[in-house]
Amino acid sequence: MRTIGLIGGMSWESSAEYYRLINQGVARELGGHSSARLVMVSVDFAEIESLQVAGDWDTAAAMLADAARSLEAAGAGCVVIGTNTMHLVADQVQTAVAIPLLHIADATAAAIERDGRGVIGLLGTRFTMEMDFYRGRLANKHGLNVIVPDEPDRTTVHDVIYDELVLGEVKDTSRQEYLAVIDRLVARGAEGVILGCTEIGLLVDASVTDVPLYDTTRIHAEAAVTWALGS
Ligand code: GLU
Repeated sequence: MRTIGLIGGMSWESSAEYYRLINQGVARELGGHSSARLVMVSVDFAEIESLQVAGDWDTAAAMLADAARSLEAAGAGCVVIGTNTMHLVADQVQTAVAIPLLHIADATAAAIERDGRGVIGLLGTRFTMEMDFYRGRLANKHGLNVIVPDEPDRTTVHDVIYDELVLGEVKDTSRQEYLAVIDRLVARGAEGVILGCTEIGLLVDASVTDVPLYDTTRIHAEAAVTWALGS
């Protein structure tokens, strides 16, 4: 088994999910008392969040590149950035190390392609929904037609992430708001919806809607398991 390197803390609420899902995946595949070989560097999300608000992506990139180098030095064979938003600096992180970065959008697109879907809704932070690093990759590299919520839905989705989910607050009122946003994406043609923020799965899953959901935390964790157990 190869050693996974996880950059966590963005937020730790979802890093805990990554840790659980990766270990469950390895145990499922190998059985018995098996668990994942994993190294994690967990950053202070307050620092990252301030840099996001300031638009200081270069400093954020340098911090995550440092984290990736620490993972590599500790024996990790790959880098998993446990957040969609910070894939904005994925290229800088990849450049900092010789080990491969498992890109969350590529893993997610592969799952969508396997299901034969081409028109897909995207929920995430404002950065993920509005900037090109994520939507552009899905569209240009994977040929997906990506639909994001209109305003004020984008603001609702973003605010629930930063004001509630990353703080561990899961509210039924916000779940209902998300479900309404998802329904509006479907009404506009979405054949499924990407939960493109690693905390959204704490709020919405297949038990509360019939709309096909692509939970990026689950998909990314599973891609790490596949990588760890591959040759
Ligand atoms: N975990 C979230 C994501 O997947 C948001 C937190 C962050 O800004 O990194 O985008």
